[in-house]
Amino acid sequence: MFYAFHLLDIVNRLPTLKDVIRSVTLNIQLLGMTAMLGVILVYIYSVIGFLFISDLYFDEGIDTGLINKAGESICMSLLHCFLSTFNYGVRTGGGMGEFLPAETGASYNFLAYYVRFFYDITFFLLVITILLNVIFGIIIDTFAQLREKADNIKFDRQNICFICGLSRQVLDRETIEGFEFHNENDHALWNYVYFFIHLEDKPKSDMNGVETTVKEKMEEGDQSWFPLQRCLRIDKNPKRLESVDESNELDEMIKEIGTKFKTTEEAIKNLESLLT
Ligand SMILES: [Zn+2]
Repeated sequence: MFYAFHLLDIVNRLPTLKDVIRSVTLNIQLLGMTAMLGVILVYIYSVIGFLFISDLYFDEGIDTGLINKAGESICMSLLHCFLSTFNYGVRTGGGMGEFLPAETGASYNFLAYYVRFFYDITFFLLVITILLNVIFGIIIDTFAQLREKADNIKFDRQNICFICGLSRQVLDRETIEGFEFHNENDHALWNYVYFFIHLEDKPKSDMNGVETTVKEKMEEGDQSWFPLQRCLRIDKNPKRLESVDESNELDEMIKEIGTKFKTTEEAIKNLESLLT
């Protein structure tokens, strides 16, 4: 039997399964408090049941082992009553009302009928409909959030360069080779790791200028040497240079139009002064 529990190791191996467990453990406080409210509500119902309708708490399915005696009372003490209300009430889809035998609506039994009506319907609404669904809702919501987070991480891993933070969109547009090439060659993650190890291994006296600078910055915890939002291939890209030229041309055109507009304005003013 002990070895059967070893199968649970599968949770450790699959990250999605870990999320399933985490969807419960992450909000354990909130779930615990909601469950506590549930226990208090069930206790209130069991006290009412114990005081007023304990004779109805009877399970015919219990085998007492005696001849000609089927069934037994399930409310012999307050604790017994509480455990029975919990067990039968929460497990039955319609609450305690579904489990207990119905009360007659005849005139001599009117009060008991009304008490049972409110007892059954409020138990169903408060415990079964609201409380249980709130607990399920919390678990499902947390799971959805965790799944969304995992999806976002996956999306970032596939579409954003780990080193420079430029997106697939920018790299595909600005370079001829595109994102995949950039990720595998220009900013290959493992090349940076190898570089770190190389810096660790190499004696300081043998380092060249770049290595010394990076090593010093790393020791200070300074990460400014990382090409954040920068990429040499984009800076050297002829496509981009053209567009820079174009933008310069555009600036000049705008300036030219501005000066032309000013001279025309002055000419109009001169004409006006001549006319008056
Ligand atoms: Zn990059």
